[in-house]
Amino acid sequence: MKQNGILLNLTEKEFDLIEEVGDGHISTSLETPMKPDAHALSDKEKMAKIAEHFASIMDTLGLDLSDDSLQGTPMRVAKMYVEEVFSGLNPKNKPEVKLFENKYGYNEMLVEKDIKVHSFCEHHFVPIIGVAHVAYINSGKVVGLSKLNRIVDYFAKRPQVQERMTMQIANELKEALDTEDVAVIIDAKHMCVSLRGVEDTSSSTVTASYSGAFQNEETKREFLQYIYSGK
Ligand SMILES: [Zn+2]
Repeated sequence: MKQNGILLNLTEKEFDLIEEVGDGHISTSLETPMKPDAHALSDKEKMAKIAEHFASIMDTLGLDLSDDSLQGTPMRVAKMYVEEVFSGLNPKNKPEVKLFENKYGYNEMLVEKDIKVHSFCEHHFVPIIGVAHVAYINSGKVVGLSKLNRIVDYFAKRPQVQERMTMQIANELKEALDTEDVAVIIDAKHMCVSLRGVEDTSSSTVTASYSGAFQNEETKREFLQYIYSGK
């Protein structure tokens, strides 16, 4: 996609609209928008290409890439994008979830709270940092606790919109745990709100998804009590 010519020819109004979509954090679908050939390149090929483009961004900003301190930056950024912060774009990194028999006969809700969320805003490519609280009521099968963290992490490690991330995590939990009784809350700070635009450093954004039994007021209240009591 060629963006160079486009940007120079934008009217002020059109440019404002681009800003508005970003600042409003409007997402277009539940699926992360991906190209059909998204995984045609190997990780190595992606890194080489990203490094080249990032070097060009730095060069355009006027930075001297022959400086010892800056020389390795394009490759470091490329490696960080592909292997770390955006690794959740590649389905090969999706955590495998194994279910176990619920041998203890535990039939109450299980809550895993304060799971770290390190994501990136897809409109500005700056971090979204916060926590997720998830809960489920088992359908006779249970899951290893760390898998809940891993599912959150997989969907966080993408360019994201918080609402979509919340829904993607909830849907995956429902499928993996074979139950509709799932709740997800995400409470996160968006660096694009703190560092630029309105520059608000104190606000955070809360999103929630309640399905099955969690749509019942009493069950929802019990979940919220576990999360917010004692804080
Ligand atoms: Zn943003």
